[in-house]
Amino acid sequence: MILLDGKKTSGDLKKEIAASVADRISQGKKAPHLAAILVGTDGASMTYVNAKVKACQRVGFDSTLINMPADSSEEKLLQEIDQLNRRKDIDGFIVQLPLPAHIDEQKILMAVDPEKDVDGFHPVNVGKMALNLPCFLPATPFGIMELLERYQVPTSGKQVVVIGRSHIVGRPMSILMSQQRPAGNATVTVAHSRTQNLKALTLQADIIVAALGIPGFLTGDMVKEGVTVVDVGITRLEDPSKKSGYRLSGDVHFESVSKKSSHITPVPGGVGPMTIAMLMKNTLLACKRKDG
Ligand code: NAD
Repeated sequence: MILLDGKKTSGDLKKEIAASVADRISQGKKAPHLAAILVGTDGASMTYVNAKVKACQRVGFDSTLINMPADSSEEKLLQEIDQLNRRKDIDGFIVQLPLPAHIDEQKILMAVDPEKDVDGFHPVNVGKMALNLPCFLPATPFGIMELLERYQVPTSGKQVVVIGRSHIVGRPMSILMSQQRPAGNATVTVAHSRTQNLKALTLQADIIVAALGIPGFLTGDMVKEGVTVVDVGITRLEDPSKKSGYRLSGDVHFESVSKKSSHITPVPGGVGPMTIAMLMKNTLLACKRKDG
Protein backbone atom coordinates (compact mmCIF):
# COMPACT_ATOMS: atom_id res chain seq x y z
CA MET A 1 0.00 0.00 0.00
CA ILE A 2 1.33 3.41 -0.99
CA LEU A 3 0.31 6.39 1.08
CA LEU A 4 -0.58 9.39 -1.10
CA ASP A 5 1.25 11.83 1.15
CA GLY A 6 -0.35 15.24 0.70
CA LYS A 7 1.78 16.78 3.41
CA LYS A 8 5.03 15.89 1.65
CA THR A 9 3.72 16.64 -1.85
CA SER A 10 2.29 20.01 -0.81
CA GLY A 11 5.67 20.77 0.81
CA ASP A 12 7.40 20.01 -2.51
CA LEU A 13 4.89 22.21 -4.34
CA LYS A 14 5.36 25.09 -1.92
CA LYS A 15 9.13 24.87 -2.41
CA GLU A 16 8.61 25.08 -6.18
CA ILE A 17 6.29 28.07 -5.74
CA ALA A 18 8.73 29.78 -3.34
CA ALA A 19 11.53 29.31 -5.92
CA SER A 20 9.30 30.90 -8.60
CA VAL A 21 8.59 33.85 -6.29
CA ALA A 22 12.30 34.31 -5.49
CA ASP A 23 12.98 34.23 -9.22
CA ARG A 24 10.36 36.92 -9.85
CA ILE A 25 11.77 39.13 -7.13
CA SER A 26 15.32 38.77 -8.50
CA GLN A 27 13.97 39.96 -11.87
CA GLY A 28 12.45 43.03 -10.20
CA LYS A 29 8.89 41.72 -10.51
CA LYS A 30 6.30 41.94 -7.74
CA ALA A 31 5.49 39.14 -5.28
CA PRO A 32 2.05 37.53 -5.74
CA HIS A 33 -0.55 38.96 -3.37
CA LEU A 34 -3.48 36.90 -2.06
CA ALA A 35 -6.32 38.44 -0.06
CA ALA A 36 -8.96 36.59 1.95
CA ILE A 37 -12.27 37.82 3.34
CA LEU A 38 -13.57 36.10 6.45
CA VAL A 39 -17.06 36.95 7.65
CA GLY A 40 -17.67 36.01 11.28
CA THR A 41 -15.66 33.92 13.72
CA ASP A 42 -16.51 30.30 12.86
CA GLY A 43 -13.74 28.17 14.37
CA ALA A 44 -13.07 25.91 11.35
CA SER A 45 -13.17 28.86 8.92
CA MET A 46 -10.71 30.82 11.05
CA THR A 47 -8.37 27.82 11.13
CA TYR A 48 -8.53 27.45 7.33
CA VAL A 49 -8.01 31.16 6.63
CA ASN A 50 -5.09 31.40 9.06
CA ALA A 51 -3.49 28.35 7.43
CA LYS A 52 -3.82 30.06 4.04
CA VAL A 53 -2.25 33.30 5.30
CA LYS A 54 0.61 31.36 6.91
CA ALA A 55 1.19 29.43 3.68
CA CYS A 56 1.39 32.76 1.80
CA GLN A 57 4.09 33.98 4.13
CA ARG A 58 6.06 30.77 3.73
CA VAL A 59 6.24 30.99 -0.06
CA GLY A 60 7.02 34.71 -0.09
CA PHE A 61 3.59 36.02 -1.12
CA ASP A 62 2.05 39.17 0.25
CA SER A 63 -1.24 38.52 2.01
CA THR A 64 -4.16 40.57 3.26
CA LEU A 65 -6.80 39.24 5.64
CA ILE A 66 -10.05 41.14 5.87
CA ASN A 67 -12.13 40.23 8.92
CA MET A 68 -15.77 41.28 8.83
CA PRO A 69 -18.28 40.90 11.67
CA ALA A 70 -20.80 38.03 11.37
CA ASP A 71 -23.69 40.49 11.06
CA SER A 72 -22.14 42.37 8.10
CA SER A 73 -24.70 43.10 5.41
CA GLU A 74 -24.55 41.52 1.97
CA GLU A 75 -24.11 45.01 0.54
CA LYS A 76 -21.09 45.71 2.74
CA LEU A 77 -19.50 42.44 1.63
CA LEU A 78 -20.19 43.28 -2.03
CA GLN A 79 -18.47 46.66 -1.49
CA GLU A 80 -15.44 44.93 -0.01
CA ILE A 81 -15.30 42.57 -3.03
CA ASP A 82 -15.61 45.51 -5.41
CA GLN A 83 -12.59 47.14 -3.78
CA LEU A 84 -10.52 43.96 -4.07
CA ASN A 85 -11.58 43.61 -7.72
CA ARG A 86 -10.21 47.11 -8.35
CA ARG A 87 -7.00 46.94 -6.34
CA LYS A 88 -4.07 46.55 -8.74
CA ASP A 89 -1.71 45.20 -6.06
CA ILE A 90 -3.94 42.19 -5.31
CA ASP A 91 -3.63 39.31 -7.78
CA GLY A 92 -6.27 37.01 -6.37
CA PHE A 93 -8.67 36.71 -3.46
CA ILE A 94 -11.05 34.32 -1.80
CA VAL A 95 -14.20 34.68 0.23
CA GLN A 96 -14.06 32.00 2.92
CA LEU A 97 -17.14 29.77 2.88
CA PRO A 98 -19.60 29.08 4.41
CA LEU A 99 -21.07 32.58 4.72
CA PRO A 100 -23.68 33.54 7.35
CA ALA A 101 -27.21 32.48 6.34
CA HIS A 102 -28.41 36.05 5.61
CA ILE A 103 -25.86 36.40 2.77
CA ASP A 104 -26.56 34.93 -0.68
CA GLU A 105 -23.45 32.84 -1.39
CA GLN A 106 -24.09 32.61 -5.14
CA LYS A 107 -24.47 36.38 -5.46
CA ILE A 108 -21.17 36.88 -3.63
CA LEU A 109 -19.24 34.36 -5.73
CA MET A 110 -20.63 35.96 -8.91
CA ALA A 111 -19.28 39.36 -7.79
CA VAL A 112 -15.65 38.20 -7.76
CA ASP A 113 -13.69 39.20 -10.87
CA PRO A 114 -13.06 35.87 -12.69
CA GLU A 115 -9.45 37.01 -13.30
CA LYS A 116 -8.93 37.16 -9.52
CA ASP A 117 -11.10 34.14 -8.65
CA VAL A 118 -8.30 31.89 -7.40
CA ASP A 119 -10.84 29.56 -5.75
CA GLY A 120 -12.25 28.83 -9.23
CA PHE A 121 -15.88 29.18 -8.07
CA HIS A 122 -17.08 31.87 -10.51
CA PRO A 123 -19.32 30.49 -13.31
CA VAL A 124 -16.83 31.78 -15.91
CA ASN A 125 -14.11 29.59 -14.42
CA VAL A 126 -16.48 26.66 -13.88
CA GLY A 127 -17.54 26.92 -17.55
CA LYS A 128 -13.96 27.09 -18.75
CA MET A 129 -13.09 24.09 -16.59
CA ALA A 130 -15.96 22.10 -18.14
CA LEU A 131 -14.63 23.00 -21.59
CA ASN A 132 -11.06 22.10 -20.58
CA LEU A 133 -9.86 25.65 -21.27
CA PRO A 134 -7.16 27.46 -19.25
CA CYS A 135 -8.77 28.67 -16.00
CA PHE A 136 -8.45 28.63 -12.23
CA LEU A 137 -9.34 25.10 -11.15
CA PRO A 138 -11.03 24.76 -7.74
CA ALA A 139 -8.25 24.08 -5.27
CA THR A 140 -9.39 20.75 -3.76
CA PRO A 141 -10.02 18.88 -7.04
CA PHE A 142 -6.90 20.54 -8.52
CA GLY A 143 -4.91 19.22 -5.53
CA ILE A 144 -6.27 15.70 -5.96
CA MET A 145 -5.38 15.71 -9.67
CA GLU A 146 -1.86 16.88 -8.81
CA LEU A 147 -1.48 14.17 -6.14
CA LEU A 148 -2.63 11.41 -8.52
CA GLU A 149 -0.31 12.74 -11.23
CA ARG A 150 2.77 13.05 -9.01
CA TYR A 151 2.27 9.52 -7.65
CA GLN A 152 1.67 8.30 -11.21
CA VAL A 153 -1.56 6.56 -10.28
CA PRO A 154 -2.90 5.07 -13.52
CA THR A 155 -6.24 6.67 -14.39
CA SER A 156 -6.62 6.22 -18.15
CA GLY A 157 -9.50 3.85 -18.90
CA LYS A 158 -10.06 3.18 -15.19
CA GLN A 159 -13.44 3.01 -13.45
CA VAL A 160 -13.81 5.90 -11.02
CA VAL A 161 -16.59 6.43 -8.50
CA VAL A 162 -16.84 9.93 -7.03
CA ILE A 163 -19.08 9.95 -3.95
CA GLY A 164 -20.61 13.42 -3.59
CA ARG A 165 -21.74 15.95 -6.20
CA SER A 166 -20.97 19.30 -4.54
CA HIS A 167 -19.93 22.26 -6.68
CA ILE A 168 -16.58 22.53 -4.90
CA VAL A 169 -15.46 18.88 -4.81
CA GLY A 170 -17.52 16.04 -6.28
CA ARG A 171 -18.81 17.64 -9.47
CA PRO A 172 -15.50 19.22 -10.59
CA MET A 173 -13.65 16.02 -9.65
CA SER A 174 -15.93 13.99 -11.92
CA ILE A 175 -15.43 16.45 -14.80
CA LEU A 176 -11.64 16.62 -14.48
CA MET A 177 -11.10 12.87 -14.23
CA SER A 178 -13.20 12.23 -17.33
CA GLN A 179 -11.29 14.82 -19.39
CA GLN A 180 -8.32 14.26 -21.64
CA ARG A 181 -5.58 15.45 -19.28
CA PRO A 182 -2.98 14.07 -16.87
CA ALA A 183 -4.77 11.98 -14.19
CA GLY A 184 -7.81 12.00 -16.49
CA ASN A 185 -9.25 9.81 -19.26
CA ALA A 186 -11.18 7.78 -16.71
CA THR A 187 -14.74 6.47 -16.89
CA VAL A 188 -16.48 8.30 -14.08
CA THR A 189 -19.63 7.60 -12.10
CA VAL A 190 -20.96 10.30 -9.76
CA ALA A 191 -22.75 8.92 -6.70
CA HIS A 192 -24.82 11.06 -4.32
CA SER A 193 -27.41 10.88 -1.58
CA ARG A 194 -30.05 9.42 -3.94
CA THR A 195 -27.76 6.75 -5.39
CA GLN A 196 -29.09 3.24 -4.89
CA ASN A 197 -26.88 0.28 -4.08
CA LEU A 198 -23.70 2.32 -3.89
CA LYS A 199 -21.74 -0.71 -2.71
CA ALA A 200 -22.28 -2.45 -6.06
CA LEU A 201 -20.67 0.57 -7.73
CA THR A 202 -17.75 1.01 -5.33
CA LEU A 203 -16.93 -2.72 -5.52
CA GLN A 204 -16.34 -2.26 -9.27
CA ALA A 205 -14.24 0.90 -8.90
CA ASP A 206 -10.51 1.13 -9.57
CA ILE A 207 -10.46 4.58 -7.95
CA ILE A 208 -12.84 6.01 -5.35
CA VAL A 209 -13.01 9.67 -4.36
CA ALA A 210 -15.01 10.00 -1.14
CA ALA A 211 -16.37 13.52 -0.64
CA LEU A 212 -19.60 13.29 1.30
CA GLY A 213 -18.76 14.46 4.80
CA ILE A 214 -19.79 11.32 6.72
CA PRO A 215 -16.95 10.07 8.94
CA GLY A 216 -15.79 6.51 8.20
CA PHE A 217 -18.52 5.99 5.55
CA LEU A 218 -16.47 3.93 3.08
CA THR A 219 -15.55 0.63 4.69
CA GLY A 220 -13.31 -2.27 3.64
CA ASP A 221 -16.23 -4.47 2.52
CA MET A 222 -17.21 -1.79 -0.05
CA VAL A 223 -13.95 -1.84 -2.03
CA LYS A 224 -12.06 -4.30 -4.19
CA GLU A 225 -8.42 -5.35 -3.81
CA GLY A 226 -5.96 -2.90 -5.36
CA VAL A 227 -8.29 0.10 -5.24
CA THR A 228 -6.98 3.68 -5.06
CA VAL A 229 -8.86 5.74 -2.48
CA VAL A 230 -8.90 9.51 -2.11
CA ASP A 231 -10.47 10.67 1.13
CA VAL A 232 -11.66 14.28 0.89
CA GLY A 233 -13.80 14.29 4.03
CA ILE A 234 -12.88 16.41 7.01
CA THR A 235 -15.21 16.21 10.00
CA ARG A 236 -14.34 17.48 13.47
CA LEU A 237 -15.21 14.85 16.07
CA GLU A 238 -15.14 15.64 19.78
CA ASP A 239 -12.12 14.09 21.45
CA PRO A 240 -11.36 15.14 25.03
CA SER A 241 -7.97 13.41 24.83
CA LYS A 242 -6.78 16.05 22.33
CA LYS A 243 -5.54 19.48 23.36
CA SER A 244 -7.88 21.09 20.82
CA GLY A 245 -10.84 19.02 22.10
CA TYR A 246 -11.44 17.44 18.70
CA ARG A 247 -9.89 15.18 16.09
CA LEU A 248 -10.33 15.16 12.33
CA SER A 249 -12.03 12.24 10.63
CA GLY A 250 -12.18 11.44 6.93
CA ASP A 251 -15.01 9.75 5.01
CA VAL A 252 -12.99 6.54 4.75
CA HIS A 253 -12.59 3.86 7.41
CA PHE A 254 -8.84 3.91 6.96
CA GLU A 255 -8.01 0.75 8.89
CA SER A 256 -10.20 -1.60 6.84
CA VAL A 257 -9.91 0.17 3.46
CA SER A 258 -6.12 0.65 3.51
CA LYS A 259 -5.65 -3.14 3.84
CA LYS A 260 -7.12 -3.58 0.35
CA SER A 261 -5.75 -0.40 -1.27
CA SER A 262 -2.88 0.09 -3.68
CA HIS A 263 -2.89 3.84 -2.91
CA ILE A 264 -4.73 5.80 -0.24
CA THR A 265 -4.73 9.33 1.22
CA PRO A 266 -4.61 9.74 5.00
CA VAL A 267 -6.70 12.23 7.00
CA PRO A 268 -5.15 14.48 8.11
CA GLY A 269 -2.16 14.91 5.79
CA GLY A 270 -3.78 13.92 2.50
CA VAL A 271 -6.07 16.14 0.45
CA GLY A 272 -6.22 19.01 2.99
CA PRO A 273 -2.64 20.30 2.63
CA MET A 274 -2.87 19.93 -1.17
CA THR A 275 -5.86 22.28 -1.23
CA ILE A 276 -3.84 25.13 0.28
CA ALA A 277 -0.85 24.51 -2.00
CA MET A 278 -3.10 24.70 -5.09
CA LEU A 279 -4.57 27.98 -3.91
CA MET A 280 -0.99 29.28 -3.84
CA LYS A 281 -0.42 27.87 -7.31
CA ASN A 282 -3.53 29.64 -8.65
CA THR A 283 -2.41 32.92 -7.07
CA LEU A 284 1.02 32.62 -8.67
CA LEU A 285 -0.72 31.95 -11.98
CA ALA A 286 -2.97 35.02 -11.53
CA CYS A 287 0.11 37.14 -10.82
CA LYS A 288 2.03 35.78 -13.84
CA ARG A 289 -0.96 36.43 -16.12
CA LYS A 290 -0.76 40.11 -15.24
CA ASP A 291 2.91 40.26 -16.33
CA GLY A 292 1.53 40.21 -19.86
P1 NAD B 1 -21.48 18.77 0.63
O1 NAD B 1 -22.18 18.60 1.93
O2 NAD B 1 -21.66 20.01 -0.16
O3 NAD B 1 -21.85 17.56 -0.32
C1 NAD B 1 -21.93 16.25 0.15
C2 NAD B 1 -22.34 15.36 -1.00
O4 NAD B 1 -22.37 14.04 -0.52
C3 NAD B 1 -23.69 15.69 -1.60
O5 NAD B 1 -23.55 15.84 -2.99
C4 NAD B 1 -24.55 14.49 -1.25
O6 NAD B 1 -25.46 14.14 -2.30
C5 NAD B 1 -23.53 13.40 -1.04
N1 NAD B 1 -23.99 12.41 -0.06
C6 NAD B 1 -24.47 12.64 1.19
N2 NAD B 1 -24.81 11.47 1.77
C7 NAD B 1 -24.52 10.49 0.90
C8 NAD B 1 -24.64 9.08 0.93
N3 NAD B 1 -25.13 8.44 1.98
N4 NAD B 1 -24.22 8.40 -0.16
C9 NAD B 1 -23.72 9.02 -1.24
N5 NAD B 1 -23.58 10.37 -1.32
C10 NAD B 1 -23.97 11.08 -0.27
O7 NAD B 1 -19.95 18.50 0.95
P2 NAD B 1 -18.58 19.04 0.30
O8 NAD B 1 -18.49 20.49 0.48
O9 NAD B 1 -18.36 18.45 -1.04
O10 NAD B 1 -17.56 18.35 1.32
C11 NAD B 1 -17.50 16.96 1.51
C12 NAD B 1 -16.49 16.66 2.59
O11 NAD B 1 -15.21 17.11 2.15
C13 NAD B 1 -16.71 17.38 3.92
O12 NAD B 1 -16.28 16.56 4.97
C14 NAD B 1 -15.83 18.61 3.83
O13 NAD B 1 -15.42 19.10 5.08
C15 NAD B 1 -14.66 18.03 3.06
N6 NAD B 1 -13.86 19.00 2.31
C16 NAD B 1 -12.52 18.89 2.42
C17 NAD B 1 -11.70 19.73 1.71
C18 NAD B 1 -10.21 19.57 1.83
O14 NAD B 1 -9.49 20.49 1.56
N7 NAD B 1 -9.74 18.38 2.21
C19 NAD B 1 -12.25 20.71 0.89
C20 NAD B 1 -13.64 20.79 0.77
C21 NAD B 1 -14.44 19.91 1.48
